[in-house]
Amino acid sequence: MSQPIKKVGVIGAGVMGATIAAHTANVGLPTVLLDIVPPKMPEKLQKKRVKEDSPQFRNLFAQNGLTGALKARPAAFYVPEDADLITIGNLEDDLDLLKDCDWIVEVVVERLDIKKDLFSKLETVRKPDCLVTTNTSGISVAAMSEHLSLEFQENFLGTHFFNPPRYMKLFEIISGPKTTSDAMERMAEFAEKILGKGVVFAKDTPNFIANRIGVFAGNYTNQLMQEMGFGIEQVDALTGPVLGRPKMATYRLADLVGLDVMSHVADNVYENCPDDEKRDVFKAPDWLKEMIAKGWLGNKTKGGFYKKTKTPEGKKEILALEYQALEYRPKQKAKFGSLEEAKQKSGVNAKLKSMFYAKDKGGEFVFRLLAETLIYAANRVPEISDDLVNIDNGMKWGFNWKLGPFETWDALGLVKSADLMKNAGYALPSWVEEMLANGFESFYQYKAGKLSYYDQAQKAYLPVEVSPKIILLKSLKDQDKTVIENKGASLIDLGDGVACLEFHSKMNSLGPEVITLMDKSLEKVATDFDGLVLANHGSNFSVGANLMLVLFTAQEEEWDELEFMVKKFQDTLMKLKLFEKPVVAAPHQMALGGGCEVCLASDRVVAAAETYIGLVEVGVGVIPAGGGTKELLIRNTHERVFKVERGGLYPKQPFLLPFAARPFETIAMAKVATSAKEAQKMGILRYTDKISINGDYRIKAAKDNVLAMNLAGYTPPKPLEKIRVMGQDAMGVFKYAIYNLQKAGFVTDHDVTVATKVAEVITGGKVLPDTYVSEQYLLDLEREAFLSLCGTRETQARMAHMLKTGKPLRN
Ligand code: NAD
Repeated sequence: MSQPIKKVGVIGAGVMGATIAAHTANVGLPTVLLDIVPPKMPEKLQKKRVKEDSPQFRNLFAQNGLTGALKARPAAFYVPEDADLITIGNLEDDLDLLKDCDWIVEVVVERLDIKKDLFSKLETVRKPDCLVTTNTSGISVAAMSEHLSLEFQENFLGTHFFNPPRYMKLFEIISGPKTTSDAMERMAEFAEKILGKGVVFAKDTPNFIANRIGVFAGNYTNQLMQEMGFGIEQVDALTGPVLGRPKMATYRLADLVGLDVMSHVADNVYENCPDDEKRDVFKAPDWLKEMIAKGWLGNKTKGGFYKKTKTPEGKKEILALEYQALEYRPKQKAKFGSLEEAKQKSGVNAKLKSMFYAKDKGGEFVFRLLAETLIYAANRVPEISDDLVNIDNGMKWGFNWKLGPFETWDALGLVKSADLMKNAGYALPSWVEEMLANGFESFYQYKAGKLSYYDQAQKAYLPVEVSPKIILLKSLKDQDKTVIENKGASLIDLGDGVACLEFHSKMNSLGPEVITLMDKSLEKVATDFDGLVLANHGSNFSVGANLMLVLFTAQEEEWDELEFMVKKFQDTLMKLKLFEKPVVAAPHQMALGGGCEVCLASDRVVAAAETYIGLVEVGVGVIPAGGGTKELLIRNTHERVFKVERGGLYPKQPFLLPFAARPFETIAMAKVATSAKEAQKMGILRYTDKISINGDYRIKAAKDNVLAMNLAGYTPPKPLEKIRVMGQDAMGVFKYAIYNLQKAGFVTDHDVTVATKVAEVITGGKVLPDTYVSEQYLLDLEREAFLSLCGTRETQARMAHMLKTGKPLRN
């Protein structure tokens, strides 16, 4: 293991610097955030008579950066308290704060002279071995450091974060001419393990990997749009999910990033890559230059390619830019036969193929765009990266493409699509021609669960290295490790006596198939394994119960059937909870409703740091009835209150209300944690649950936790028979709170009905104060509440609306 990084310095507290500091604080590292002393006193401070020598003035830029990071949405911090780990200062008074830092990252304005000057300053304070890196978007790493001492240069490299740093997985690492392999490895290990990033090794060429290709694709899109006379909505419809790219597609993304920033990055290639065969593509069209000159830069200037306004009647309206005339007009819907057809296909590969080979104008656009982009990417090997895996990862992690360029090309069918491109007059890179001539028919080869890629230099397939910390379920399944399976889920042998239950139903919703397999898996694990992990690689861990089925059964008034379904879910989760062997859930992204309840029923959770977990049932007019209401109550009252040692100053019977109010609020307001750390703070996860900063490690970490629990001598939990509840007297307090919200207009009549049901379970229903009840009793209350709410028109309307629009209905 390389020398740990325990303290970080971030220089520059702008858009990137402040949010990079937030992320180093997120992962628990004390961080120093410095910026320049403002050139002059702002009027606002002048009026307050702030002195020139006060930190309030001198640290103003760093303070503003920190304040901005605290307000950033999506949140830059896992929890706001993490900001306490950041010490702010300025580059004139506080350089000394950097002297015990193990890593200093420069995030100042994109100017070579300023960056060079800063590094000379750092040379005077940094301790030996301290890594110094630059977050430049495209300036040469070599040019920045040539004036520095050899020891500095050996520890100097490029570390390119993508915006927003907390969320974007890509972390490009660029070696300088003298950087040691130790320094490179130390940074790569730290970035992956501690910062949770996906590392891509890039060469020191303008814009490195992702921005070189991403900006080419963006600029070529502009050119093609103009040539084919398309509007921006048409282009966005053709360059979004149908190509495996984000919904924002081309122009909503440009508005988000900022047209000035995009254009600056493109200019950098134009100026510094005189030999690029497609250099002219990087030139901005006149209309784009004019937009920038007018200050129409995107979301930050309240208008770019799109602009939000209101109609004369006060309704929200989105306008789109007619770029030739530079005028806004109401947004129009794009219509292409090819697009409608492709949307019907399932999976990104089928959609891509359908678009690429389509014969209408939409198909022609996609064919030309992909042909140019794929050939451009292939021509960049080995210029920007020796292998194509780094390029594919760069595009997936930096631009959220589902497939990188070479994966896309394989998905289209390399041989067939290459022929089509050649027939249309495109020249393929010579190494691709050679590879095809030698009988290699794809860039990647997948055999028996192992992936290899075509290496241009060795003219052969080489294995794609997978870190031993990463478990890929698909790979295990392809090695015949599936134990049992049905359409909704599979039980997979992870090795070392641990099995994994993987959900793979639509959106990983929990319907009868998943529940049945969960039940069967417990039987199988009881006899053949030592413990169970619950994890999957879906876009989300699970979005909850199969709502369609619940609504359908309710509409059909099949109450016995509905009761059976809920009871089955409750029983299975109780079985999971009381299971004789350790069960560890490893959620990631969304774990909502039933998905959250599965985690609550597990012995332990190893959550990816980016887990958004919560009981959101009230949004669809019901309460959590898979044990979620009961579990949240137990975690917040039983587990906490009874941990308090009695006697001394503590009353014999601690007052329950403040403890019980929290789960009530969390459930009644459908609160969802914005990070795994926040879930701990909210009492959804326990502090003994683990957080996997690098989400890719979570399945291995969960497996190791199962093994550790067994090693320590695992004993399963017993069903709780004595859970103290407040009883019906406390209902008054909850009703009063709900009444106040209703009077203030914050909640609807049906919200009141649903929240009252939540309160009934939380207080234990119609029992005397301080009654002790069992888990089963609380489950019965949950079930009754759920069923009675399903019988209401309003709840059914909420469910129907959610299924139709994906959004909650406030009725
Ligand atoms: P920014 O303009 O938001 O922040 C730059 C900071 O540098 C400001 O706080 C400013 O006060 C400070 N600064 C100005 N002059 C300085 C000087 N002489 N010495 C030290 N600090 C000085 O810029 P940003 O978007 O945060 O970009 C910072 C760096 O990160 C740039 O190199 C940029 O290319 C790179 N980058 C930006 C993005 C992005 O999306 N914005 C993404 C990746 C990399």
